[in-house]
Amino acid sequence: MSNLLQSYVEGRWVSPGDEGTPLLSAVDGHEVARISSSGVDLAAMVDYARRVGGPALAALTFHERAALLKQLGMTLMAGKAEFYELSRHTGATDRDSAVDIDGGFGTVLSYSSKARRELPNDTICLDGDIEQLGKKGTFLGQHIYTSRRGVAVQINAFNFPVWGFLEKLAPAFIAGVPSIIKPASQTAYLTELVFRRIIESGILPEGSVQLLCGSARDLLDHLDGQDSVAFTGSADTAATLRAHPTVVSSGLRFTAEADSLNCSILGPDVSTSDPEFDLYVKQLVTEMTVKAGQKCTAIRRALVPENLVDDVIRAASERLAAITVGNPADESVRMGALAGIDQRDEVLKSIRALTKSATIVFGDPDSVEVVGADAVSGAFLSPILLHAADKTAPEPHDIEAFGPVSTIIGYSDAADAVALAARGKGSLVASLVTKDAELAGEIVRGLAPFHGRVLVLNSEDARESTGHGSPLPVLVHGGPGRAGGGEELGGIRGVLHHMQRTAVQGTPDVLTATGRRWVTGARRVQGETHPFRKDLGELRIGDTIVGGPRQVTRADIDHFAEFTGDTFYAHTDPEAAAANPLFGGIVAHGYLVVSLAAGLFVDPAPGPVLANFGVDNLRFLTPVKAEDSLTVTLTAKQITPRQSADYGEVRWDAVVTNQNDEPVAAYDVLTLVAKPAASA
Ligand code: NDP
Repeated sequence: MSNLLQSYVEGRWVSPGDEGTPLLSAVDGHEVARISSSGVDLAAMVDYARRVGGPALAALTFHERAALLKQLGMTLMAGKAEFYELSRHTGATDRDSAVDIDGGFGTVLSYSSKARRELPNDTICLDGDIEQLGKKGTFLGQHIYTSRRGVAVQINAFNFPVWGFLEKLAPAFIAGVPSIIKPASQTAYLTELVFRRIIESGILPEGSVQLLCGSARDLLDHLDGQDSVAFTGSADTAATLRAHPTVVSSGLRFTAEADSLNCSILGPDVSTSDPEFDLYVKQLVTEMTVKAGQKCTAIRRALVPENLVDDVIRAASERLAAITVGNPADESVRMGALAGIDQRDEVLKSIRALTKSATIVFGDPDSVEVVGADAVSGAFLSPILLHAADKTAPEPHDIEAFGPVSTIIGYSDAADAVALAARGKGSLVASLVTKDAELAGEIVRGLAPFHGRVLVLNSEDARESTGHGSPLPVLVHGGPGRAGGGEELGGIRGVLHHMQRTAVQGTPDVLTATGRRWVTGARRVQGETHPFRKDLGELRIGDTIVGGPRQVTRADIDHFAEFTGDTFYAHTDPEAAAANPLFGGIVAHGYLVVSLAAGLFVDPAPGPVLANFGVDNLRFLTPVKAEDSLTVTLTAKQITPRQSADYGEVRWDAVVTNQNDEPVAAYDVLTLVAKPAASA
């Protein structure tokens, strides 16, 4: 019986209504699975995501969602062996699969960790500072992010059946938006298997993820302005989807990541005897051969100083000659197959087009020695290195051969290299290999407008470098212009893509209630109990303690200077201090002011406050002179219980004023406070 892939719709697995189209192994052409989406109710999928998945996610805070992702990432990681096994049919070697499978699970774990560290334990998050909109401070503005109420539809490419969907799913999930995942048909059997394990784990809330195997059919017709579509694939399909009436008229968010003529530049300062020369060549060969070059980030154009073109061709050819092509199951194999015969035919077509202006200097498109498999039934191809003698010829800058193919192009100087890079009309990534940091700075500034990511490699960072081709969860992935103009990942930036930014205007009390973060001017509550005696369950935003006044004496300043060794003239030398245009005499150290303030607000006995872990945004606003009197007002600003810990973070607003009510220092104090004993 054939392995007919199922879709996961409205909380259950459904089989298509027909026999489906065969999906063939890239290695030997046998049928791995069949695929079709016929009969799948796409309108019901969208409705279910909005009706069931959205509310289920909305009920969780960022931290709670992050905890589920962590559990999911660990579960998938523990069972990864079967994914590697199936991945071989896509033509992937184990090294390729690591990028896809471990890379995908790692991205999930990275998002979990980022969200716990950088987002509040809440369902909304604040963007930027308060904007004061009126003179008296009763009318303020604050930007907030809330989860959009739609569904995140992802349409993926064939080359990363695991990473491709997880790198989109993780940020959407943290943002509280349910996903519908549509893998590229060619390799959908691997996505389906991983997805099946996700559902079996029971970790994710009902409706938060659904899977559509097969054609997307009229899926976009059912979307509206709260939804988003994130597409990865060819520029042609991106253009078709961009022109879809729903995308054009509903205001849904559409992002695309399409073909990209990424380049790697060998710096003009590098000679053949430098370690950077080897780094450059090694990276070029790696990018040509990992995933058989089927990576949106692979190096398509190798820009090298004109006088080193022959040396780079020679060195790269030597390395390429050592690459064994064949069955990924064979341990000696360094490069597997392309995803299918159709893909190989596409690549061959592109190579033929490239040869209009470039010559092949390594490899034969029509013949390849294959280990452990039949060269006819598998989608194998030799790595192909070309040289474009005419650097301005259009083909190498326009044609993306989505396989193990790169073109070497000579350049005259750094400005020429930057100009040639820009001829890619916008790329995902550029890399530059140079020893010269100053030169690197100049070139990076020139490359940046045309690239989503720029890697500068040299012998200092090479060992730690993650390489030209690796998008990282903490860095943005995407590129301008031809690369699609979209942006994914980038840590919390990727989460915010799924959220709505709204400018809220109102009084300090309204903004405090909305953002659950105390805003200057909002109500303060001074009770009988010192706020430091309240645990996380008792403490409320706005709880306040006022300490002081406390006079600062010259003896305090002298003592602090001597005790700490900070004898800067403004604190110790009356004459020099008098000449200082800002102070006009001896002033107290800023850190003395902060230390005295702590002495005024602290409640010393053991209690729920466990630690002070820092201050944020410390500003000294008015000089403090001897005999000035200080008063401190400390207000609970934000309370963030930590998931799976018996304490949480409390951010306090601290303002120190002098006897004239002028603020002399303002900052946030950060503490860890115990949860109530029972809940801990
Ligand atoms: P496609 O654009 O054909 O397919 C990408 C995805 O879009 C697949 O899931 C496909 O589904 C889906 N799709 C195709 N047509 C439609 C449509 N009309 N409506 C909705 N969804 C649609 O790209 P390929 O995967 O075939 O790759 C072709 C080229 O794309 C490569 O040669 C390369 O140039 C580029 N590419 C770029 C990548 C990148 O990351 N930037 C990655 C991979 C490829 P189905 O498979 O079911 O047809």
